[in-house]
Amino acid sequence: MTEKPKIGVYVCHCGINISATVDVETVADYALKLPNVEVARTYSYMCSDPGQSLIKNDIREHGLNRVIVASCSPRMHEPTFRKAIKEAGINPYYLEMANIREQCSWVHHDIDEGTAKSKKLVAASVAKVRLLEALESKEVDAEPSALVIGAGIAGIQAALDIADAGFKVYLVEKTPSVGGRMAQLDKTFPTLDCSACILTPKMVDCASHPNIELLSYSEVEEIGGYIGNFDIKVRKKARYVDFDKCTGCGDCAAECRVKDRFPSEFDMGMGKRSAVYLPFPQAVPAKYTIDPESCLYLTKGKCGKGPKCAEVCQAGAINFDQVDETVEFRVGAVIVATGFDPFDASRKPEYGYSDYPNVITGMEMERLVSASGPTGGKIKIFNGKEEIEPKEVAFIKCVGSRDESVGNEYCSRVCCMYVAKQAHLLRDKLPDANIRVYYMDVRAFGKGFEEFYDRVRRENVRYIRGNPSEIFKRGDKLVVKVEDTLTATPLEDEVDLVVLGVGLEPRADMRQTMELLRLSQSPDRFFLEAHPKLRPVDTATDGVFLAGCCQGPKDIPDTVAQAKGAASSAMIPLARGKVVISAQVATVDESTCRGCGFCVNICPYTAIELVTVNRFGHEVEVARVNEALCKGCGSCSPGCLSDSIQPKSFRDRQILPQIAALGVFK
Ligand SMILES: Cc1cc2nc3c(=O)[nH]c(=O)nc-3n(C[C@H](O)[C@H](O)[C@H](O)COP(=O)(O)OP(=O)(O)OC[C@H]3O[C@@H](n4cnc5c(N)ncnc54)[C@H](O)[C@@H]3O)c2cc1C
Repeated sequence: MTEKPKIGVYVCHCGINISATVDVETVADYALKLPNVEVARTYSYMCSDPGQSLIKNDIREHGLNRVIVASCSPRMHEPTFRKAIKEAGINPYYLEMANIREQCSWVHHDIDEGTAKSKKLVAASVAKVRLLEALESKEVDAEPSALVIGAGIAGIQAALDIADAGFKVYLVEKTPSVGGRMAQLDKTFPTLDCSACILTPKMVDCASHPNIELLSYSEVEEIGGYIGNFDIKVRKKARYVDFDKCTGCGDCAAECRVKDRFPSEFDMGMGKRSAVYLPFPQAVPAKYTIDPESCLYLTKGKCGKGPKCAEVCQAGAINFDQVDETVEFRVGAVIVATGFDPFDASRKPEYGYSDYPNVITGMEMERLVSASGPTGGKIKIFNGKEEIEPKEVAFIKCVGSRDESVGNEYCSRVCCMYVAKQAHLLRDKLPDANIRVYYMDVRAFGKGFEEFYDRVRRENVRYIRGNPSEIFKRGDKLVVKVEDTLTATPLEDEVDLVVLGVGLEPRADMRQTMELLRLSQSPDRFFLEAHPKLRPVDTATDGVFLAGCCQGPKDIPDTVAQAKGAASSAMIPLARGKVVISAQVATVDESTCRGCGFCVNICPYTAIELVTVNRFGHEVEVARVNEALCKGCGSCSPGCLSDSIQPKSFRDRQILPQIAALGVFK
């Protein structure tokens, strides 16, 4: 820089987050003695309005042209302080943050050591800040449309909100119908609303909304581009049924030569479906699909004298020549709402789920208890001799949750309440049955939950504190082996039916979505949000948002609330019609670049390509950065053999003096 650096250093107390372990006044006094530092101050919350005003006033009064804020991680407040210094008239990239909270006060206990380290971090920032260059952010146009992946309640709600606001939405659902897991539920806790009654109107709305293009039985195959301009490729799988001709009458399924031979996914395998099927009567769209893995004609090339479905379809909708189609479009934002998988109970072999038909999961109980389920809502089991109504029923909670042995340390947040709900529904249907719930804790934390739990206990459902160790067979009974830990009594409880309160897990196929969108996972393996408190629906990829159980287990109210949050965040770029692209991106010195392409392979954002340029009369290949795609992560830089690619604000000439100031080269 040509002008003399005039640096202001602002040391934050962060309440006592920093000041309990760092003597902030000493750090400010020290900073004032560093070269080119004109002002050094402390304040209780530098990010607050008075804190920001302090900085702005100093810029104006002292003519500061560089600012250092010694406080929290730049991930937290860099945008806040950039905005503040820009408002005071200096380039927003003339800011450096010394992270004396996460990297100092939070990891040290000794105030002298914390203060000494903070001084070093501030000195390192002073060494760097004067070498920063002025950068200008760019604006690009944003496509006023969104992609929503997954049409459970989260995806449906997000799509409806965006569409109602006037933007086009592409809603992509992998299975033949929208609805997700909520469509399989009977009633919903704690209000006991009928799940279908509250969900189906929304399913119908999303399919008929003029702004929503529903792509069911489809999968996203490619996503390129960046916030405001994502290029999407979707594969519409062949249904072998002409979508426009099918009237949903069901004649094909009724006449299918392999009628009702295959386990119905919707009924958790407890009911059967034909090879041509509608997943459930209220499915949306109400169009039949031929399962290519079960259809005789598609698997064996032969179905009697000819496919019966084609013969009986009055509309002439059956079409075995149909092939997968590719649909391409561009959107400004993406919402991921891909949901969860119920825990696979066979991973707890001690509970005998794979061995005993009368050990079922909570998801199966939802179908069993439902009037639209495989038994018409009757609770009947086969005890080896005859079909009976169970008299003794045990629920076991926390199956696959809070359990290190299966790698799930987290609480699934819905099992306590869905078990209470199912116990209540069983009590209604089996007034004389003995119903007990084995539990570790009861977490009834939501609105109306505690009251519901109390109601269920008053309905003579016994809660027994204990985590069963084993289930085995004795005669025609199942024996639950458990210790009642409140009375220290070992029990061998003989029952007819066991319901495992299985938890929620990340989807087994989530990796594909992760790779498409470059998403990360949190330690519980669900998708990681950008910040757990302040950016709970954002991801590290700008323009990509999360909704529902793909981000972590949650009930329907929380899912809907998060979907609405994701929709409103996604609508910001769509409504503005423009997006700001960060200026802190990698840049290539084309005069030294050898065009080896290492950086192209390294870049996790596919932001670099090789282009041909004319260098001193010769055509040569050099790397070029797409600034809209680049996140400034710096991965490219260490891989560059000729030091030609470096991120702006993190160039060697800027960070080497910073490292030297830390004293690590001594
Ligand atoms: C046994 C049980 C009982 C429950 N009972 C209640 C209750 O009474 N009350 C309550 O509030 N909550 C209850 N819940 C929780 C409730 O089910 C969830 O809150 C809700 O289903 C979450 O919705 P979602 O849209 O996030 O996910 P999901 O319902 O899982 O929907 C995700 C959708 O995305 C689709 N999808 C997945 N991957 C892709 C992809 N790559 N491309 C396109 N589409 C994709 C799926 O096919 C699915 O349609 C219960 C949960 C269980 C397990």
